[in-house]
Amino acid sequence: MRRLVIYLFSVLIITIIMPTVIVKTINFVPRENAVSGEGFDNNNREPAKIIISDQAKNNRKNLIDTIRVYNPYNDKVLELDLEEYIKGVVSAEMPAEFHIEALKAQAIAARTYAVSRSIKYDQEGHPDHKKAPLCIGVHCQAYLSLDELKKIHGEEWEEKYWSKISEAVESTKGILIYYQGQIIEPLYHSTSGGMTEDVVNVYSQDLPYLKSVISPFEEESPKFKSITTMTGDEFVNKISENYSNAAITLENFYEKIKLIEKTNSGRIKKIAIGNVIIDGTKFRELFGLNSTNFIIAYDKDLNIIDITTYGYGHGVGMSQWGANGMANKGSNYLEILEHYYSGVEIR
Ligand SMILES: [Zn+2]
Repeated sequence: MRRLVIYLFSVLIITIIMPTVIVKTINFVPRENAVSGEGFDNNNREPAKIIISDQAKNNRKNLIDTIRVYNPYNDKVLELDLEEYIKGVVSAEMPAEFHIEALKAQAIAARTYAVSRSIKYDQEGHPDHKKAPLCIGVHCQAYLSLDELKKIHGEEWEEKYWSKISEAVESTKGILIYYQGQIIEPLYHSTSGGMTEDVVNVYSQDLPYLKSVISPFEEESPKFKSITTMTGDEFVNKISENYSNAAITLENFYEKIKLIEKTNSGRIKKIAIGNVIIDGTKFRELFGLNSTNFIIAYDKDLNIIDITTYGYGHGVGMSQWGANGMANKGSNYLEILEHYYSGVEIR
């Protein structure tokens, strides 16, 4: 039988698992945002509705209807009709097989993101691509034209899914997400791993609508749980190449690695290797991990390290797999968006 030596056994149990259990069971989710993992109790929720005030109607008249998007592959700027652009973003960012309510939520999040970026970087462009406020890559939000989509998924994709994508976009035309009257920056990601992340832990900017919330129903995501495996030597070499002061070896492995801080959502915020403190986000980058929600296990006999990660992406804002899970459980797009973006108005 494989004898798995859990690295820093006592540290793991006391400082990693226990706080996770404690925060998840006691003080993690603000009550107003709490959702039972057993299923949504919609009885206590205000029925979601679209508010169309006179001000909103005026806003809609002034709404941006053309989007400028930079293509880094040919250094050109595309000028696209906003709603046509959103169809290409929804198709690129979310599987077309997803529930229509999840696709609608994605359409509204993508539209809101595009409009907020276009307002913010209207004059001088995005600092990373000054020709336009948005780009076609995941740097901003992925966009694919219908021709590109057919090349990727095959000709039959258009017949099977384009009307569904179009319905998701057209039925929510012009709808945006606001917080206290301002258009928000609705970040989203693939899979949270069960709990979304506070934006302040990822981008060092606190935003009241991007708070950590529970994200049930993600189990169908292929990225819900993943394991990255490497030899002990590979791990040690990678750390040593990047952090020479860490002075880590296979022999002192147990003493050198310590968890310093977790975020409220259970992700690794800071980890110490010797005297070097590494941010969870840096550690994630270094080992190409799916998320900062990870556990390290070392099998000393086999000299194998397994890093188990939960979720995929930065974990901030709407979880796309969580949105699909909620939709499959009966939530509509308004309920999905109001769940993942705290205290917002959708109109
Ligand atoms: Zn970009």
